[in-house]
Amino acid sequence: MSKTGKNYQASSIGDIQARGRVTLHRELSLTGSEVSINELPSGASVPFVHAHKRNEEVYIVVKGKGRFYVDGDEFEVEEGSVVRVDPAGARCITADSQSPVRYICIQTEAKSLVQFTEGDGVILENKPTWLKQAGA
Ligand code: ZN
Repeated sequence: MSKTGKNYQASSIGDIQARGRVTLHRELSLTGSEVSINELPSGASVPFVHAHKRNEEVYIVVKGKGRFYVDGDEFEVEEGSVVRVDPAGARCITADSQSPVRYICIQTEAKSLVQFTEGDGVILENKPTWLKQAGA
């Protein structure tokens, strides 16, 4: 599925298990963040430790189990774990030896967020079919 409109782009990343890593910056022409969807097979690790110059990262584990490394600290992560790392944090993630780990990583420029949700969202009168049918 791929669809583009005046104010949106929609796509499908397909089988993330087979692809291993998909970055959405190019696929969706993101302008304020980079988002990657990643899956490491059982026992596999990102093969390096890295930091960033300007971007903080949020890791959201959506499936499986693994271990996280930041600046010498190591800890378990599993479905539901969320980790924010400052740009300077030296980080790495590995899958558990018995389980793959699937995670989403969101990169944004540190300290760039000046508004969010209630401060930025605007409720409109437009309605999709499912809200019209519900009489909402
Ligand atoms: Zn990174």
